[in-house]
Amino acid sequence: VSGSVCKGCGKPIRFAKNLAGKYIPLDERAPVYEIVKVLGEERAQLTERAFVTHFATCAKANDFSKKKEAT
Ligand SMILES: [Zn+2]
Repeated sequence: VSGSVCKGCGKPIRFAKNLAGKYIPLDERAPVYEIVKVLGEERAQLTERAFVTHFATCAKANDFSKKKEAT
């Protein structure tokens, strides 16, 4: 999982394998937090797990594929 740049729009992305073992592009993004319960109280916890697929945000997404594949 190393940093890269989208060939379509030039934005920084990273590639990671999905559960099927296929590489998918993910957006580099600002820190994301998830809400977790700690002692019955909601706390915001930084997560490194949540990414947005670049297919959803790329202005050139149609260049990659016409059909969306289920993940
Ligand atoms: Zn792009």
